[in-house]
Amino acid sequence: CFDPGKIPAAPNDPLYSLVSAYEADTSADTVDLGVGAYRDENAKPWILPTVRKAKAILEKDPRHDHEYLPIAGLPTFNSAAQSLILGADSVAIKENRVCSFQTISGTGAVHLGALLISKFAPRPSPDVYISSPSWPIHDQVFTNVGLPVKHYPYFRKDTKTFDVSGMTQTLNSAPKGSIVVLHACAHNPTGVDPTSDEWIEIAKIMKANELFPFFDCAYQGFATGYLSQDNFAVRYFVEQGFQIAIAQSFAKNLGLYGERAGAFHFVASPSSNASSTTNRVASQLSILQRSEISSPPIYGAQIASIILNDPQLLSEWETDLLTMSGRIKKMRKCLKEELDRLQTPGTWDHIVNQIGMFSFTGLSPAHVHELREKWHVYMAETGRISVAGLNDHNVAYFARAVDNVVR
Ligand code: PLP
Repeated sequence: CFDPGKIPAAPNDPLYSLVSAYEADTSADTVDLGVGAYRDENAKPWILPTVRKAKAILEKDPRHDHEYLPIAGLPTFNSAAQSLILGADSVAIKENRVCSFQTISGTGAVHLGALLISKFAPRPSPDVYISSPSWPIHDQVFTNVGLPVKHYPYFRKDTKTFDVSGMTQTLNSAPKGSIVVLHACAHNPTGVDPTSDEWIEIAKIMKANELFPFFDCAYQGFATGYLSQDNFAVRYFVEQGFQIAIAQSFAKNLGLYGERAGAFHFVASPSSNASSTTNRVASQLSILQRSEISSPPIYGAQIASIILNDPQLLSEWETDLLTMSGRIKKMRKCLKEELDRLQTPGTWDHIVNQIGMFSFTGLSPAHVHELREKWHVYMAETGRISVAGLNDHNVAYFARAVDNVVR
């Protein structure tokens, strides 16, 4: 019988533990490079100016209430989210081959997609290939629904660059029908993305080997700073006729972290019965969503919908994205310059070559530990830093700390 007394204690989530340790540290020198959330030049959370405007619009709207949303979520949010990731001119949208469900941010979108696969894929279940390394929750979400997880190489430790041959070799030998989780842009944790040509090569192999792409897009607009560049891979795969799953998050790019605004999209391949496939998938997603969360949260989706459906606010949002991605790029440059100036042992070009919120520094767990104990710098054990945690006040201090621990 079920005996809760026999349940073993689980380990704490490493990143949430890091946050607690950082908050408990009373030193004046603390630097938080752990949390995957944008911080302004004073290390404070930033409410995007566009989001402030959208909130004001929402408050004044006499129709604004706190009713339940439909099971699939806010229709104006879903359609705009779809256009944002696939492109407003997407043929798949025109041909009614896409269905979209509002989810509990990106994590909920990955979960809904994983659940759909676990329920409807033939037995034995297909393998789910996840990059090594990846956002650690990928493994957990797919494992939780009973899908077998495998890994493909992604990062070359020697050059600190994308391991294109490792990834393509593994995909070449993956069993037909396997699911491949792909980070659409700004790979977490490495900050290393395939080039357009490398995406084309990956798509070719996946097509030939009949692999199913499951895109996770948590950082659209955070990599290059441009929404329409950061969705290149997703658009390309759709153009190549793949059927794909997409998990989309508005946590980072709209700074709506705690509002949990996200979407899951399914795109069917072009064929005479594509829209019938999409409708059947949508009907099953509806059942899954109802039994898991009933209906998604309203507030964040309303804010996002106001911005995404207003051309003026949309363009102001792009300015906000450039502010965030621009500050991150500037901090990468400052950190590299400081390390060069200190003649810190090692090469640090990867700091400026990597993209998005994170940098995989190459620092070892021993370095990370020393940085924390001696310098009050908090970062993931893997050596990942959230570059957004750096600013003009602490970047030189962090460089000095790194210089000290690697010597
Ligand atoms: N996917 C990746 C790769 C992420 O890095 C994150 C957040 O860190 C998520 C998904 C999910 O984020 P959220 O559930 O906050 O939208």
